[in-house]
Amino acid sequence: MYKHTKSKPNMAVRKVLQIGDPLLKASNKVIDDFSSPKLFKLILDLTDTLRKEDLIGIAAPQIGENYKVFITEIRKTKTRELDQTDELRVYINPVIIDYSAIESIIYEGCGTVLHGRLFGPVLRPKKITMEAYSLDGIKYRFTCDGILARVIQHEYDHMKGVEFLEKISDYKKMMTAEYYQKTIKLSKEQKHNSRITIKEFPFV
Ligand SMILES: [Zn+2]
Repeated sequence: MYKHTKSKPNMAVRKVLQIGDPLLKASNKVIDDFSSPKLFKLILDLTDTLRKEDLIGIAAPQIGENYKVFITEIRKTKTRELDQTDELRVYINPVIIDYSAIESIIYEGCGTVLHGRLFGPVLRPKKITMEAYSLDGIKYRFTCDGILARVIQHEYDHMKGVEFLEKISDYKKMMTAEYYQKTIKLSKEQKHNSRITIKEFPFV
């Protein structure tokens, strides 16, 4: 798994496109050349931008690169009260192959929606199994739940040009980041539903 622990001096924080930008709805290309320096640079830029914007997931089209690539890094941020962390993960040409019947509500925000300043409850499957390629071109299968499964589903939607706003389960409960931080962020339900209990890598 790719590791990028520190931002290098040549870090490239990219502009995060905002909803309405046609590139967010454009189709995303499959990566077929895993040796391309462009791909490595894309992952570096996504990582630096994710950390600068204080996000836990970001997809390539959000920085105007229309490829099937996204990354996640579960950690505590201003809007996520998490006592669990998960390493930086790279997902190239991802496909979600299985969704649990059990669903849960977690409030989501997004870097492309007012730079993560708007939150709303979204009902999605609690657990997923996906297949993707790592940066070195190795296919892997991954099953997980909690906030990790949630972020993967959110970023996977960006691959199809779908924004979380289209999936809000109750529009009356939308709120700014300020109200979300005061109320939902620390709520028992949000913390419980965010908890990661499964991380499995069966052989592909
Ligand atoms: Zn998003």
